[in-house]
Amino acid sequence: MVDRVVVRLPPDLRFLLPPRHRASGERALAFDPDATVGHLAQAAGVPLTEAGGLRLDGDPVPVAARARPGATIDVLEVPRPQPAAAGGFLLDVGLGALARRMRLLGLDVEWSNDADDPGLVARAVAADRVLLTQDRRLLMPRALHAGALVRGSRPDDQLADVLARFAPPLAPLTRCTACGGGLEPVPKTEIAARLEPGTRRSYDDFSRCAACGRIYWQGAHARRIEGLISAAVDDRATLGGTTEHSQQGSASALRVRDTADPRT
Ligand SMILES: [Zn+2]
Repeated sequence: MVDRVVVRLPPDLRFLLPPRHRASGERALAFDPDATVGHLAQAAGVPLTEAGGLRLDGDPVPVAARARPGATIDVLEVPRPQPAAAGGFLLDVGLGALARRMRLLGLDVEWSNDADDPGLVARAVAADRVLLTQDRRLLMPRALHAGALVRGSRPDDQLADVLARFAPPLAPLTRCTACGGGLEPVPKTEIAARLEPGTRRSYDDFSRCAACGRIYWQGAHARRIEGLISAAVDDRATLGGTTEHSQQGSASALRVRDTADPRT
């Protein structure tokens, strides 16, 4: 059929197609002389952040190339790991639990709690952050150059996906899970008045968020948090990634009163 073009996806990207096209991995679209191969890939359901490259009838082409009637466009997967943007990550409203996990691992994460945030793409571009989302529509604007569709419905799976995709250097327990600010050691005497009596009796080592002032210490959820960290670090080791420092047991990951529980 010469008035059509076929967009073809590898198995790991076929979830982006409408269900009836997933088995074949192909979607036929009407030929449009004005559409670039990038537009056609998007029309098939693939944000360009998820395309590691495009081939037109077998040959690598830039996204601005034009298809011919009857052409086949192959979308390639993004090679992993891919470089992360220098500014860190920007997560949309649906990824709050992932944001807390990433901050526990020391990653620079901004999280938008605005469900309808029209400025997300502009913020990601201006701050040179990777926009992470599970809403593919957010990844469609051409102005966005660093973004990723996060796979997985459970936050632990989402974390594994992000770590495998970007292999960022980790610095566990160096950031506030609430706001992402840096943690600094603080003498117990300086913050003793803010502690519950039980906490004051039981703990001696505290950190404080330089941005929001929350106090952290090694507490009841430490084992769960350390499990999360060691799982992430183990995954990284198998990927050949690096960990800048590991501070398991030396800092803390609970904040005063309002528990920063990564299970939520
Ligand atoms: Zn903070």
